[in-house]
Amino acid sequence: MKRVEAFKCEYCRRSRPYASASTCRAHEARCFGNPATHSCATCRFLEQGRERIEKGCDRPVWYCAKGREVLTTECSEWKRRKGNLQVNS
Ligand SMILES: [Zn+2]
Repeated sequence: MKRVEAFKCEYCRRSRPYASASTCRAHEARCFGNPATHSCATCRFLEQGRERIEKGCDRPVWYCAKGREVLTTECSEWKRRKGNLQVNS
């Protein structure tokens, strides 16, 4: 048995760790949970609603209060959300 070193993203709860610091750093640079990417996950304008699938059955949906496409990065309307949102990227 060998002990190995691994790296995890500071911003999301991505379950699988990275074997190298450089691949982890590359992920963090584009991670939706990193406020520096100005993505929906860290934006105050991301809101949750419900979408009706059929009678008596609906599901949660995310939408942008500014009417922008959701799940984007580098958004010009981005404003920092207080607190963190659970993201899996
Ligand atoms: Zn991440």
